[in-house]
Amino acid sequence: MNKIAKIFETLEYGPAPESAQPALDWIKAHDGVFGHFINGAWTKPGKTFSSDNPATGESLAQVSDGSAEDVDKAVKAARAAFKSWSALSGYERAKYLYAIARLVQKHSRLFAVLESLDNGKPIRESRDIDIPLVARHFYHHAGWAQHRDREFPGAVPYGVCGQIIPWNFPLLMLAWKIAPALAAGNTVVLKPAEFTSLTALLFAEICEKAGLPKGVVNIVTGFGETGQAIVAHPDIDKIAFTGSTDVGKAIRAATAGTGKGLSLELGGKSPYIVFEDADIDSAIEGLVDAIWFNQGQVCCAGSRLLVQESIEERFIRKLKLRMSKLRVGDPLDKAIDIGALVAPVQVERVRELMQRGVEEGGSVYEPDIDLPAGGCFLKPALITDVSPANTVVAEEIFGPVLVAMSFRTPEEAVALANNTRYGLAATIWSENINLALDIAPKIKAGVVWINGTNNFDAAVGFGGYKESGFGREGGKEGMGVYLKPAWEKDLKPAPAAKASPAKPANPLDASQGIDQTAKMYIGGKQARPDSGYSRPVFGPAGNLVGEAGEGNRKDIRNAVEAARAALGWGTSSAHNRAQILYFLAENLQYRRAEFAARIKEQTGEKGEAEVDAAIERLFAFAGWADKYDGAVHNPPLRAIAAAMVEPIGVLAILAPQARPLLGSVALLAPALAMGNPVVLVPSEKSPLSMTDFYQVLETSDVPSGVVNIVTGDSAVLAKTLAEHDGIDAIWCVGDAATSTMVEKASVGNLKQTWTSRGLNYDLSDTEKFDGDYFLRRATQVKNVWVPYGA
Ligand code: NDP
Repeated sequence: MNKIAKIFETLEYGPAPESAQPALDWIKAHDGVFGHFINGAWTKPGKTFSSDNPATGESLAQVSDGSAEDVDKAVKAARAAFKSWSALSGYERAKYLYAIARLVQKHSRLFAVLESLDNGKPIRESRDIDIPLVARHFYHHAGWAQHRDREFPGAVPYGVCGQIIPWNFPLLMLAWKIAPALAAGNTVVLKPAEFTSLTALLFAEICEKAGLPKGVVNIVTGFGETGQAIVAHPDIDKIAFTGSTDVGKAIRAATAGTGKGLSLELGGKSPYIVFEDADIDSAIEGLVDAIWFNQGQVCCAGSRLLVQESIEERFIRKLKLRMSKLRVGDPLDKAIDIGALVAPVQVERVRELMQRGVEEGGSVYEPDIDLPAGGCFLKPALITDVSPANTVVAEEIFGPVLVAMSFRTPEEAVALANNTRYGLAATIWSENINLALDIAPKIKAGVVWINGTNNFDAAVGFGGYKESGFGREGGKEGMGVYLKPAWEKDLKPAPAAKASPAKPANPLDASQGIDQTAKMYIGGKQARPDSGYSRPVFGPAGNLVGEAGEGNRKDIRNAVEAARAALGWGTSSAHNRAQILYFLAENLQYRRAEFAARIKEQTGEKGEAEVDAAIERLFAFAGWADKYDGAVHNPPLRAIAAAMVEPIGVLAILAPQARPLLGSVALLAPALAMGNPVVLVPSEKSPLSMTDFYQVLETSDVPSGVVNIVTGDSAVLAKTLAEHDGIDAIWCVGDAATSTMVEKASVGNLKQTWTSRGLNYDLSDTEKFDGDYFLRRATQVKNVWVPYGA
């Protein structure tokens, strides 16, 4: 039988190879060795390392190992370029971004081939997904460059951004970092991953061709140490990182106290939930895309299948059949599904984790399909007979390995889906749109795909909840992380707090005739401090004005427990939250004289103005509760993406020492308006305004546990709160040392932090603080993708 006739007979795919030659020619034109791209020019290659083709193990090129000096040169170039780049009009910056988009499109095939050679991903993906999305990202952000000032009034770029990216989507991650940074007016120093530097270097040439001013984009290649040098550089204003959660945590710790902006896109273990009424064949095709796209080396891979028990057996049977048809092979063959993993070390890591899965009782299925000889190839794998505690269920495998479990009810599906330290993405399959839209908001993840998966677009934010990081890439939120209010750079150090009079040597000397020691406020009830101690509160002349409980870690534990039990506050209607904030304002108004007198007692200041300002602030955020909402994006496919604004979770607040009432209310009000239960530590020096506030809370219908107040030593309680895994975000007005400590201690569960770093944030300033500033920090955006049409 001739070849064509045989193909008709067997319906086998023939090979459809793409030529590697143009990419190899490009490498050859550089003599196979690259320096860094700094200040618009190539440096002489220094110490180099090899960038290999993972499909063959052959070396493609030598790439320079960036030293701290190289990083320093790049930062100096970026700093020098910043002045004129940020002074360009938005339209001028837009034209550069547009030129880059056009040039990426023009050379798209070269980029795609080079990417597949260097990374091992199928050309089908680099050609049809990675590179088109790169071009789209630059087009989209050309628009943001031009409209920045209208859409972000009063905002300025950070300055020099250090950007560190991983190897799984080398050019796409570069685009996600560089496009918004430049659109906002920043300059950048970017380090690609050691395994995949080549498309970043080709991109540097595109910048030259686009006539981008020198120093605006600098590319320094190298290993983790080069990344560390970027993170540690004192003249970098913001760090943006994508990669593993462990390195993300190390970067969070290293930047603590430096004032550098930080956005982190980290790992995931995303659930893929299939309900019994799903279109099973479509769900299986989606699953192929969710877990075997890019060999499973995808941070948002749908790596945890949760299938309803009633269809489990049928679904797994069909899935195995589909797996047996997947084709693993040469990434440059246009007809293959799965290419090579990025490097031998990654293959090893995946194998080890699979072995661990077996040791812990899992059953591994791998189809009987051919693998190419040599190269970093693995078969698609499915692990069943696992439970939530298994390593393969909890850990990101970052390879072509799916784990599967079943569930019975929607509630169980949600509980299993959220049973992870990560929160990057989730997929839901059901023909019942009511069910799908009921589940989507219940899943703690930054992206939810309904009846589809792995949809990405420049106009739609992408990023995680919990230990998947913070900040967004794409959309307006993505632009927001590259901008800050102009006034922040003018902040002066906060005036030193006046020393409190010494505690009486004998605590009993502090006691008054009738005991009026204020208690804690936990779970809607007044509670005695666990320590059994109280602390004196002095007036401005050193006179004793009262006593407050000395809070300790057990009080914090109880308060966090109560707050977590009140997380339903976040799903109560915004109208309801607004009503309660208005009611708080109204009840504070009734007691204006009493609160004013208390302020005067503690601070010596006339208190009326502060009480009025606190009432006004409660009104302001009551007004915001039902207005600070999301958007509906129109990505270029038949789908809408609903950007939903959600609370972060339990928020800890360390209030300022000054302004004992307004200082707390200014932070409490936006947190509550957006649906976050709060654990508040009021002014250590003057806590009595907030202990008086218990009665206002009690008369204003605030559900129990939504506001919890623990008095005591701010720095001590700040540490306990920052370390507590039940706290999702922490705001701290404190000196530089306390702020640094809070940021460092927040690493455990990667809390979102806002700290004043000893600077004089004047919270009474309505123009700055009665709107977006804290609302943005009290919320995170979840994008729910919903396809439409038959
Ligand atoms: P890393 O997080 O180590 O790498 C990401 C980037 O950070 C790379 O450019 C890396 O450089 C750089 N880097 C490494 N250490 C530091 C440091 N201390 N300070 C600053 N930058 C640093 O991921 P790996 O490549 O090592 O992959 C390990 C695992 O991480 C994978 O198996 C996978 O599970 C996960 N991963 C997750 C990703 C995600 O998007 N969620 C992406 C990539 C990996 P270099 O490459 O030169 O070491």
